[in-house]
Amino acid sequence: SAIVVGSINMDLVTRASRFPQPGETLIGRNFSTVTGGKGANQAVAAARLGIETHLVGRVGADEFGQVLLAGLRGAGVNIDAVEIDKQTHSGVAAIVTNDTGENNIIVVPGANHRVDTSEIDRLASLLPQARVLLLQLEIPLDCVTTALDVACNQGVRVILDPAPVPLNFPRELYRKIDIITPNEVEASQLTGICVECPDSAAKAADRLLQWGVGTAIVKLGHQGAYCATTDVREASPSSESVAAPRSNRFFVPAFSVAAVDTVAAGDAFNGALAAAIARDVSWREALTQAAAAGAIATTQPGAQTALCDRLTLESFLRE
Ligand code: ADP
Repeated sequence: SAIVVGSINMDLVTRASRFPQPGETLIGRNFSTVTGGKGANQAVAAARLGIETHLVGRVGADEFGQVLLAGLRGAGVNIDAVEIDKQTHSGVAAIVTNDTGENNIIVVPGANHRVDTSEIDRLASLLPQARVLLLQLEIPLDCVTTALDVACNQGVRVILDPAPVPLNFPRELYRKIDIITPNEVEASQLTGICVECPDSAAKAADRLLQWGVGTAIVKLGHQGAYCATTDVREASPSSESVAAPRSNRFFVPAFSVAAVDTVAAGDAFNGALAAAIARDVSWREALTQAAAAGAIATTQPGAQTALCDRLTLESFLRE
């Protein structure tokens, strides 16, 4: 099974022709509520692909919390370890989108910022059955680091999506991370290397390996993803003529799709990566499945609504 410890949010999305000036009231065009939060999105992505998935996190004792939980349950995510916190509201993201496609976003973490040691206890009880733990950085950093430690001790593989990157990401954490999956912006923030293409992604991935992570996967949006791994189990498989020292580094081009909304592409990618790792497939195959799930997510509007099931993924990969 897969476990996700992470954020659960309700996105409040308003569309308007432009952003309002301070003090101005503007009539918007339309409004929708969309379930989100990187933790919840990644849990739904893994569950839709047929992996038993547990989410550990918090919502508030409010209507959004009920809607969020119902959505997760409906997607097949086990939410027994999600706490309803009576002290605060559910996490929300107030998003305004203008006609040129720019976003203004204010996130109020609410219950997500009250995730604490009781969640770590729940995680510990789930870990013995788990193959993989998914983490992101939308809950308090000390909870993420404790979760990392607990998973490390139990030998469960950890995928950390370093989003959003905090001001001072502690260097000593890298050696505890099996797999880190920054996008271009996050890879740049973490390494100080300006990442914008496969070449610069390779440099950033190498630096992350030097700092101690097992596998660095840099997500490059419509360009694809770059993977560097110290895991040499499958170094130079017989079907390839790649020189041995380079064989644990490779680039996965993006699938060519008509993208309409790239929200949650990264979460789809991470959920599918976890599902592939839980099924113990090769790195290349795992990255291909993750890239396909990411591409499919861009062809649909919304976050959790855009995440594909196993049949859709398999038929996409056959095409
Ligand atoms: P994030 O959402 O974290 O910023 P990316 O935008 O890099 O992540 O997307 C994650 C992955 O999804 C990419 O590495 C790529 O494989 C796939 N992907 C993203 N955008 C597109 C796109 N426009 N076309 C095809 N695949 C895409």
